[in-house]
Amino acid sequence: MGRMALVIEEVSPGMDTQDQDVPDAATAASKSFKMVGNQIRAQILQALGDARGPQDAPPVLSFSKLRDVVSSEIDSGLFNYHLQQLVGHYVHHSDEGYQMRPAGMLLYRTIQAGTITGELTIEAFSIGVDCYRCGGHIEANSSFGEFWIQCTDCDTFYDMVMAPPRGIETTDTDELLTRLDQYNRHKHVAYLRGICPICMSPVEQDLKQVDAEPYNRAHTRQVHIHWSCHHCGNRRFASLGMALLETPAVISLLEKARIDPTERTVWEFEWAMTDHTLEVVSEDPSVFSIDIEADGNFTTLRISDDLQVLS
Ligand SMILES: [Zn+2]
Ligand SMILES: [Zn+2]
Repeated sequence: MGRMALVIEEVSPGMDTQDQDVPDAATAASKSFKMVGNQIRAQILQALGDARGPQDAPPVLSFSKLRDVVSSEIDSGLFNYHLQQLVGHYVHHSDEGYQMRPAGMLLYRTIQAGTITGELTIEAFSIGVDCYRCGGHIEANSSFGEFWIQCTDCDTFYDMVMAPPRGIETTDTDELLTRLDQYNRHKHVAYLRGICPICMSPVEQDLKQVDAEPYNRAHTRQVHIHWSCHHCGNRRFASLGMALLETPAVISLLEKARIDPTERTVWEFEWAMTDHTLEVVSEDPSVFSIDIEADGNFTTLRISDDLQVLS
């Protein structure tokens, strides 16, 4: 396993001070980073996380065992000082020793996923679907946690997914596409139900004309759904079809045609990747129609701007 590389600031005993004259959010962020912004603290969290088996409760390590795992060369007093900084929020202390708390495991897993420090880049590969615009070559590519789907012939940009870098570290591209698709779509379900999949706050959902998208990318779509979280700044653009794919109305429609929507990636549904079957029926109130293709048959759904199926 990779070692924690979260060394933001070397903190010596006695140097921790209360942040003053800064807003609450900035104080919380400063405290959070400072809490683990030291190599010894990061190593302690890494050791406690590594010690846990996949099916076991977090183990309790005695002080001497934990110090041995991290490094017996670290001065005992210095080691204890940094360990005590973690006790409370990240680490539980009992007579038996030290045990990771859920917040500590969450931080450990986030770092193991490469979300914070990962810089993994993979070589582009074909997703096995022809471009819906030009018939050309759609490729998947990835850099610094961004994973995007784009036609290399006409530049049409189909999708962008934020993926934990360690999760895309594989040579089995079919299996990778399946995992990426499911990882992304489970987030869509959360957004559709009004929840931010990052911080669990309420999200706003609205439909935007393509001109309103802030990214300069070549699209074939007229309309985007935009989900945004005002608490953590998380945001996501998706096509109307991508969102509808996770709704009961469309799932049941596909199942009637004996299509399991979980066995295909979203990129294989033309009505989800393009606006080729989408029409704006009225603008005030906003009503759209979209033809959903299932096994060669088309069903027209009329959709309100809050994604309710009208007919
Ligand atoms: Zn193309
Ligand atoms: Zn959020």
